[in-house]
Amino acid sequence: MKTHNFSAGPSILPQYTIDETIKGIQNFAGTGLSIMEVSHRSKECVAMFEEARGLFKELLNIPEGYTVLFLGGGASTQFLMVAMNLLNKKAAYLNTGAWANKALKEAKQFGEVIEVASSKDTVYNYIPKGYTIPTDADYFHITTNNTIYGTEIKYDMDCPIPLVADMSSDIFSRPVDVSKYDLIYGGAQKNLAPAGVTFVIIKNDILGKVERQIPTMLDYTTHIEGDTMFNTPPVLPVYAAYHTLNWLKNLGGVEVMQKMNEEKAAILYNEIDSNPMFKGTVLDKEDRSLMNICFVMEDEYKHLEKDFYEFATAKGMSGIKGHRSVGGFRASTYNALPKESVQALVDCMREFQKANS
Ligand SMILES: *Cc1c(COP(=O)(O)O)cnc(C)c1O
Repeated sequence: MKTHNFSAGPSILPQYTIDETIKGIQNFAGTGLSIMEVSHRSKECVAMFEEARGLFKELLNIPEGYTVLFLGGGASTQFLMVAMNLLNKKAAYLNTGAWANKALKEAKQFGEVIEVASSKDTVYNYIPKGYTIPTDADYFHITTNNTIYGTEIKYDMDCPIPLVADMSSDIFSRPVDVSKYDLIYGGAQKNLAPAGVTFVIIKNDILGKVERQIPTMLDYTTHIEGDTMFNTPPVLPVYAAYHTLNWLKNLGGVEVMQKMNEEKAAILYNEIDSNPMFKGTVLDKEDRSLMNICFVMEDEYKHLEKDFYEFATAKGMSGIKGHRSVGGFRASTYNALPKESVQALVDCMREFQKANS
C-alpha cells in the first residue's frame, strides 16, 4: 500500500530530492567522498552553496541588493534575530497564530511591540483585515502561512514600513514579489529540505540601524560578509534544498507550482465543502491556505472523528491529525505532494461518508 504523506512538518519532499541526496551521501560531486564528510570550504561544496543561492534568486526573481543566507537555529531563532537586528524602538506584528505569537513575544525583549490585529478570538481561523500599520514602527512582521490553522496571506501586501515575513510553510509555493519585503525567513523543513537549515532573504541596506551590540552569530552582517559560511553551515540540508530547487526549476518554477497547488487544494476544499459529513475550519475562502487544509466533522458526526482517522490511516493517509489546538484534521498539501495523494484522501472521505451516514 502506498503511504500518502500529509505531515505538517517535517514533511514530504520530492522523490528526486531524496534520490539525488542519497547519491551525494555516497559520492558527492565526483569527489569520492560523502557530502557528510567534505569540508564546507572545499571548492565543490562552495560551488554547490553558490548554486543553491543562485537558484533561490532565480526562482523567486530576487532583485539586486538582497542576500540569501542559510543559517542554523530554525525559524524560531529568526524570531529573535529579526528583532535584535531591526528593532530600535518599536515594531508592529500581525498575530495570526501560534508562530506569529511566538515571534511577537520574542520581539518584546528588544523594544515596544504593537499587535496591530489578532484573530486569536476564534482560534486564528481567519486573517485579520482593515487594520492600520503604524508608520513610526521599524518594521511590520507577518506570517504568510499559518501552518497550524490553515490560513494564508496569498498576496504580497503594500506596506508603508519595512515588511518582514515568516514564510516557513509557503516559500516556493507561489511567485513572490520580493521587492515588497525587506526580510523573508523560514525553516526549510516544510517545502524545501529536511530540518536543520533556515533560509533568510535579506535586503542588505536595512541593517546597521539599531544601536545595540549584537552577538556575532546573531548578527546578519556576520553571515552576509561570511558568504553564509562564517561558521560550519548545515551542509546536508542545504544539499537537499539544492536538489529541491533544481526539481522546482525543471518543473517550470513557482508559477507552475502555484497552479499545481491551486489545483490540489481545490480538489480537497471542494470535497470538504460538498461532503455532508465534513466542514472546513477556515470559512473565508480568501484566507484558506493552499498548504495546510484544516477540516473537522459536522457536529452531528463529531463522534466519528476517531473512526475516520483510523479508517484513513489504515488506507495509507499519514499525518492527517489536526493540531491539538484546532482538532479534527489537517492535510498538508505542500509542493512535493502529488495530486494523486489528494485524490486518495478525497476517495477516503467519500467512502467513509457513504458507509457511515
Ligand atoms: C514550522 C514553523 C515555524 C517553526 O520553525 P522551526 O524551524 O521549528 O523553528 C515557524 N513558523 C512557521 C510558520 C512554521 O510553520
